[in-house]
Amino acid sequence: MNRILVANWKMNGSIDQFSTYLTDLQNGYSFKNIDLIIAPPFPYINIVKNKIVNKNIFIAGQTMNYLPDGAKTGEVNARMLKDVGSDYVIIGHSECRENRSFDDIDASKTVLSALEKKLKVIFCIGEKKTDSMSNEIIIEQLVCALEGIDKKYSEFIIVAYEPVWSIGTGVTPTPEQVLQKRQIIYATLYNLGFLKTQIIYGGSVTVQNAGSFINNAQIDGFIVGKACMHAGNIIEMLNIL
Ligand code: PEP
Repeated sequence: MNRILVANWKMNGSIDQFSTYLTDLQNGYSFKNIDLIIAPPFPYINIVKNKIVNKNIFIAGQTMNYLPDGAKTGEVNARMLKDVGSDYVIIGHSECRENRSFDDIDASKTVLSALEKKLKVIFCIGEKKTDSMSNEIIIEQLVCALEGIDKKYSEFIIVAYEPVWSIGTGVTPTPEQVLQKRQIIYATLYNLGFLKTQIIYGGSVTVQNAGSFINNAQIDGFIVGKACMHAGNIIEMLNIL
């Protein structure tokens, strides 16, 4: 399976900035065995989609609501993300758990709604603090998300392990700590029958530390926030992958 790099633009950028970014990124682009997944802010999804010429570059929505059409100001659902050209959706990002009250109860309904609309899912899990309960927390998040989801969807789900204390802080776990979490996630997925689900890491990934995670933590790739805002960083990370 291809390695994965998710570039989460969060609430950053402008049309001008992203036009330059996409041109720089795609000039001489030659990465065939890596899926690059760009997650622009909602209003830019279709614009970005139309600028992508490489078949290994995909688009993700940053979040979604599991409900069909309805009175939900500010929300978007899977059908809308699909309509504007998304291939993936990020679900359960810690910033959405915090700011949009996303919780474990919403998780499997949201995952199922995305998959049924043929959106692949990047499902984020991670503990808030470096405490001794972190293993139980991530297992619980994963089990809740996959409850009632058919195993046939296994290959259409990516699990992103993102310790919340590492996102945007510049502080990371060691590759050995990520490896330990990766093994717990893998074992949980295995027990649930999700054998083709890939596991990536996110949390203050940089060009400097990416190689060490890839070499020592047995992960399939990264989800990157801050460092992904420069096309040059993305190219370097793709080279590392
Ligand atoms: C993220 O928000 O998913 C993330 C990994 O952010 P950062 O790379 O900035 O820590």
